[in-house]
Amino acid sequence: MPHPHDASAVTALYQELILDHYRRPRNKGTLANADAHVVRKNPLCGDEIELELRFDGDRIAEAKFGGRGCSISQASASMMTELVRGKPAVEARALIRRFAELLRGSPDAAADERLGDARALRGVARLPVRVPCAAMAWTALEEGLKAAES
Ligand code: ZN
Repeated sequence: MPHPHDASAVTALYQELILDHYRRPRNKGTLANADAHVVRKNPLCGDEIELELRFDGDRIAEAKFGGRGCSISQASASMMTELVRGKPAVEARALIRRFAELLRGSPDAAADERLGDARALRGVARLPVRVPCAAMAWTALEEGLKAAES
C-alpha cells in the first residue's frame, strides 16, 4: 500500500481502480423485468448509459447498465451500480448527493467510506470538462428512482 501522503502513488492507485472498473465493469448487462429504464447521453464526450433498475418495495434489488464511452463514464456506472444494489432508495439518494459533493471537490465526501470505489473519481473535480462523464450514471439513477415513485 502506498503511503497516504504520497499523493502521486495515491493518484496512481485511483487510476488503477478506474481502469479496473472500465475493463471489468460490474453489473453490465440488462434486466429481464426492469421497473425503471433510463437512457442518458453526454454529447460533449460521446458517452452513453442505459441504466435498468428492479425494485423490491423501496429497495433497489438489481441495477444493471449498458452503454459505451470514456473510461470515467463507464467506470462511474460500474461503481455506482455496485454501490446501490440492495440499498433502500433513501440511502441511494443520500449517496447521489454525496457523490455530487465529491465532484465539487469536497474533501469530506472524498473521505466518506460509504462512497466505496467511487471515491477514486475524486480527481475529476479538478477536471471540470470530465464532471459530466462521471455524473451521468448518477443522474440516471436519480431519474430511475423518480420514475419508480410515480
Ligand atoms: Zn466521457
